Amino acid sequence: MKKSLVLGVVFSFLTISWSCHTKPNNKKEVPILCYHNIKNFSAKASPDVKAYSTTPKRFTEQMKALYDNGYQTISPDELYRYLIHNALLPPKPILITFDDTRAEQFTLAIAEMNKYHFKGVFFIMTVSIGKPGYMTKNQIKILSQTGHTIGLHTWDHTAVTHYTENDWNTQLIRPRKQLENLIGQPIDYFSYPFGLWNQNAISKLRSEHFKLAFILSSAKDKTHPEFTVRRKTIAGTWSTPTMLKVLQTTFH
Ligand SMILES: [Zn+2]
Repeated sequence: MKKSLVLGVVFSFLTISWSCHTKPNNKKEVPILCYHNIKNFSAKASPDVKAYSTTPKRFTEQMKALYDNGYQTISPDELYRYLIHNALLPPKPILITFDDTRAEQFTLAIAEMNKYHFKGVFFIMTVSIGKPGYMTKNQIKILSQTGHTIGLHTWDHTAVTHYTENDWNTQLIRPRKQLENLIGQPIDYFSYPFGLWNQNAISKLRSEHFKLAFILSSAKDKTHPEFTVRRKTIAGTWSTPTMLKVLQTTFH
């Protein structure tokens, strides 16, 4: 009796300590979509345009398909609490993210997402704000005020792997401050231009107290997986069923 009680206590302790120390690396990945342009393109468009553009019609279909398949969007804060503090997530969680500040993310995507109460994450490269074809300051502010998350995607989209010490100021610290002043909220999330990263970038993001950083679908860092959170770019050439299948096969 006594022995089983002791064993029970030891077992509970082990269970608790295991669950508190589950590394983000071992967690089941939450599917994360990455969109860039939402626009029509011709069959003759370059492979790059096809890879980084989704037609408005297909985007509409994809949002409906996610909803019909039971997906629910979560915020990067919820993802952070899950990865770092073992918080529970709703069934079939997903993140819908957008890179590069494109205007149509505001003018087209939001209306479709609103139909299903989906919230998105918008990674902004600050040099583009207010330029033709890109979001304005006011649009970014509205996104933040309506429950979407604003993240940083550098000043001018130079890959972090090319930075010298002073570039961190230009690409990370100053644009972060600019976005924080604009939306009146902290900027805690970063997406690497081209999905490219290195150890120096992880150290820098950690020392600046970013919470999570997002790559594309290459391998995660083993020590700091929360600074290499994987996403999948949704190619314009995929049908909606292909997109749903890719979600299931990309995230483990
Ligand atoms: Zn980008």
